[in-house]
Amino acid sequence: MKKCVSKTLSLLIAAALLAGMLCTGAFASSEEPSTELVQVGVSWVGDFEDGVPDEDTQAYIDAVELAGAEAVYLPQATDADSAAAALETVDCIILTGGEDLDPALYGEEPYELLETVNQVRDVSDYWYCTVALEMDMPILATCRGLQLLNVVCGGTLYQDFPSQYETDVEVIHRDPAGEDFAYHNITVEDETSLVAQAMGGAGEYEVNSWHHQAIKDLGEGLVVTAVADDGIIEAVELPEASFVLAVQFHPEWMIQEVCEDYVTFFTMLIEAASQTASGTEESDYQAYLMAFVDSCEDIRTSGAAEEFYALIEAGDYVSFPVEMLFDATWFGEAAMTYEEFVAADGTYEIGEHASNGAMLDGTGE
Ligand code: MN
Repeated sequence: MKKCVSKTLSLLIAAALLAGMLCTGAFASSEEPSTELVQVGVSWVGDFEDGVPDEDTQAYIDAVELAGAEAVYLPQATDADSAAAALETVDCIILTGGEDLDPALYGEEPYELLETVNQVRDVSDYWYCTVALEMDMPILATCRGLQLLNVVCGGTLYQDFPSQYETDVEVIHRDPAGEDFAYHNITVEDETSLVAQAMGGAGEYEVNSWHHQAIKDLGEGLVVTAVADDGIIEAVELPEASFVLAVQFHPEWMIQEVCEDYVTFFTMLIEAASQTASGTEESDYQAYLMAFVDSCEDIRTSGAAEEFYALIEAGDYVSFPVEMLFDATWFGEAAMTYEEFVAADGTYEIGEHASNGAMLDGTGE
């Protein structure tokens, strides 16, 4: 067991800590309770007039609400920082459908059958996807979202696969009249895949379809988990991530037009988000921090324990003075951060901490 490095120093810090409590009102701040609904970010497609979402965006919002979570329409991201700031407000993200991706994103010139591109949205989506992957935030991507994920992972697309992709099997992936979804079969082989779990097992399923772009070269780390009869990729996943599921079809519209069971795509996203955000693991962590505080004689004898408990209970792990728990020079042994705690898989030992309370009450050692 390590002792405190400097008892005089810790005495000074304890005094400053108590003074800080009295002067800064630090304990008045608290985070939202962990019983809040999971916040599901819906990627920005444009600014809505009067704030009313278009029907495609509304379909995602309805699906999220049906699954028992709260949808948050994300603002436009223009770089990594603005994407990260917006993602701090949510627990997971849906990358939605829409226009063709600019082929410049994967180093190609526009092909003659490329359709409308939206470069402002491309930039926003690119940063949301990139930063969400860096954060290991759960991602559900549909249609354009799948294509974007593939490109962010270094893959390429067919700009117009009906004219660029050779196959003997004819499958219609987009209604020629442009009025409604086309429907076609997909095959899910791996019963352990996320898409199999969402669909109810391996097998063949009929899904909706409205696309003329598709994955050509697969991005790094992605695995294909569903294909159409013509070989067009209909689902990919990223096994190294906590939860990344991308489908070429539209489960949000399947819910409305075919079968409500497709809500599983959204409930799985939300479950993944609650595991990484504020589920039972968080209460375990709070119990751990409480025990850590109990083991610190300094805190007990300074009378600060109640204040620490209040901050911990509020889920406020990083503001003054709880951050001192993470400072090894203060207590001799640092508390685990939440990330370390999750990584430790709930196994930990509370060590014996600084015993310089004796200094505080004037008795010395
Ligand atoms: Mn399709």
